[in-house]
Amino acid sequence: MQKADLLICGGIILTLDEQDSVIDPGDIAIRGDTILDIGLNLSDKYQASTLLEAKGHLVMPGLINAHTHAAMTLFRGLADDLALMDWLKNYIFPAEARFMSPEHVYLGTMLACLEMIKSGTTTLSDAYFFEPEAARAANDAGLRAVVAQGIIDFPSPDAPDPKESLRLAEEFICQWKGSDRISPAIFCHSAYTCSPQTIQKAKRMAERHAVPFGLHLAETQQEVQEIVHRYGKRPVQHLADLGVLDETVMAIHCVWLDQREIDLLQELQVKVVHVPESNMKLASGIAPIPRLLERGITVGLGTDGCASNNDLDMFREMDTAAKLHKVFSQDPTALKARQLVRMATREGAAVLGQGHRIGSLEVGKKADLIILDLQKPHLLPVYNFYSHLVYTFSGADVDSVIVNGALLMRNRKVLHLEEEKLIERIVDLSRQIQGQMRVR
Ligand SMILES: [Zn+2]
Repeated sequence: MQKADLLICGGIILTLDEQDSVIDPGDIAIRGDTILDIGLNLSDKYQASTLLEAKGHLVMPGLINAHTHAAMTLFRGLADDLALMDWLKNYIFPAEARFMSPEHVYLGTMLACLEMIKSGTTTLSDAYFFEPEAARAANDAGLRAVVAQGIIDFPSPDAPDPKESLRLAEEFICQWKGSDRISPAIFCHSAYTCSPQTIQKAKRMAERHAVPFGLHLAETQQEVQEIVHRYGKRPVQHLADLGVLDETVMAIHCVWLDQREIDLLQELQVKVVHVPESNMKLASGIAPIPRLLERGITVGLGTDGCASNNDLDMFREMDTAAKLHKVFSQDPTALKARQLVRMATREGAAVLGQGHRIGSLEVGKKADLIILDLQKPHLLPVYNFYSHLVYTFSGADVDSVIVNGALLMRNRKVLHLEEEKLIERIVDLSRQIQGQMRVR
């Protein structure tokens, strides 16, 4: 008998490998942080210190939220039903200036991590201020994360002098580089809030340190008009001409693209992140995702910040994305369930440059997986797992979560965080925020 740390037995395993193999029933053996074996009757082969019985449960890769601003959970529901600029200038920016301290970024990110664990997300890609604190929170929460220091040419809570933001980003990268679960990165807010020089410097820094580089791109028509007005070309062309677009770039939104820009994204192998609920809530528009997928562009799925969503549940995001593209194209075959599940798992991993480590259940990959209980009235009967994941499940149906081989949640109990204490602190802080802000 060989030794394993964890053995998951008798589940229906959705591997999300290249062939979308399903093993029903099947077992998974985990040693340390890695998937050691997948197959039948593994209890005959391995002696494990922990055994999880998964009969009647679905076992699949943990979901990957490819774009969020985790600490913005603190502003969930603070200001809704507003025009984008009113929302940003009169609510979000003032709230950030007033309340986003290192301590609150840690707290808000921890709240986000708790919500993500409880809704089956095992990897997040975050971009915000005070990212050393966001990284610390994600690390303490046990999640895997790409954590990107935000760069913007305006005074921000952590860089009152914008010239400092690149230095802060470099310090942050050096601090976290080489960490197992936390991958540092750089995120320029956008082409309309960062000068060409800032974007180029940030991209060169990302290249020097071999870390991912992200930015919001072509989110609104107003942004496109602004960039055309300033530079005489559309946003994707502008960035391509700056020499900052390549296969390591995560372009968030990509709502307003013309044909030439889609060609450029394909040629330069830029990765795209679709954030449908945020785009819908802020009435930004509908990204041409089916067209991008047809062109072979890698597309992941994200929630964006909580203030424009207002939750971090990737199951809901998949459901919304599927229905949005069907009604928009008046084609019920658009963006099928299986495609959405891939976007939320293996394609998301590829967007983050981690396709070789996570995103599917395969021997040698990191043991990031979730277990869902199928024996519930609202989930029965089950004919198609992918349809269920997109149209029927919600995050609340996730039973257990494993990240890097560590069991973070079992039977919906988060094992390593003091959930009640955290909730108390969040309630206290939200009272302070409510007392000082014009809450609508
Ligand atoms: Zn965003």
